[in-house]
Amino acid sequence: MSNAPDTVAALLADAAARIGGDSPRLDAELLLEAVLDRNPTWFRTWPEHEVAPADAARFRTLVERRVAGHPVAHLLGHRGFWTLTLEVSDRTLIPRPDTECLVEATLALPLPEQARVLDLGTGTGAIALALASEKPDWSVSATDAVEDAVALARRNAERLGLSVQVHRSHWFRNLTAAGFDLIISNPPYIAESDHHLDEGDVRFEPASALVAGADGLDDIREIAATAPDWLQPGGWLLVEHGYDQGAAVRDLFLAAGFSEVETGRDYGDNDRYTLGRIGKGECNADG
Ligand code: GLN
Repeated sequence: MSNAPDTVAALLADAAARIGGDSPRLDAELLLEAVLDRNPTWFRTWPEHEVAPADAARFRTLVERRVAGHPVAHLLGHRGFWTLTLEVSDRTLIPRPDTECLVEATLALPLPEQARVLDLGTGTGAIALALASEKPDWSVSATDAVEDAVALARRNAERLGLSVQVHRSHWFRNLTAAGFDLIISNPPYIAESDHHLDEGDVRFEPASALVAGADGLDDIREIAATAPDWLQPGGWLLVEHGYDQGAAVRDLFLAAGFSEVETGRDYGDNDRYTLGRIGKGECNADG
């Protein structure tokens, strides 16, 4: 290390240069925020503030782990989603901003005042908790197949004081009560052979949250085919998927008997989710 004092400005500049990637400055600020318990406005107001040696050392350790590829969310132990701060872990997906588009789309649907809602494969609980926070009169449940994710989602619900029932279940397999007004999911949807799995932050996330067979559609196929049995007549299914999977997912929804099938876009203007409604009254289960 040089003899120059570890000012806020110098620490952030050095860290950003070491980190590289898409958002080096933001990553550095998030890590320094965690160490100093100060926000970016404070950093800009006091760039020449000298950081205590122990804090500077802690910060540099975090920066080196980021340089080694660890996601910022794993280093901090939390990630913001919607209006909530969620505990994260390396046993499940880190919530993505684009998934907030599914929350927005859900809030725009004509759902009953006291809707019964199910979030499949909830991970941290992100979608279920965002919906519960917006709609206190809804009855929100969530599943995950991974025991650690179930425990994590429950901890997040408890810490946030939100009422979400979390069950351990691989998709619908351990559920008992049907009749949901909305089933929503951000399932795994990446193809096994996708080279993105070997790059960047996803290397530190579990395959169980990311990968779904040869075409990435194995889980969406199961969810779309089974969801009609679990929905109220007139109920909705909404799933996240890859930017190039819109047409395939719409076909799966149509084959399962959904109507009003539409694909929506994310903040980057890519196809990101598809929704559909199960018919009212008429026989739709047998196609
Ligand atoms: N959108 C995520 C990614 O590309 C994948 C999320 C998922 O598989 N559900 O990293």
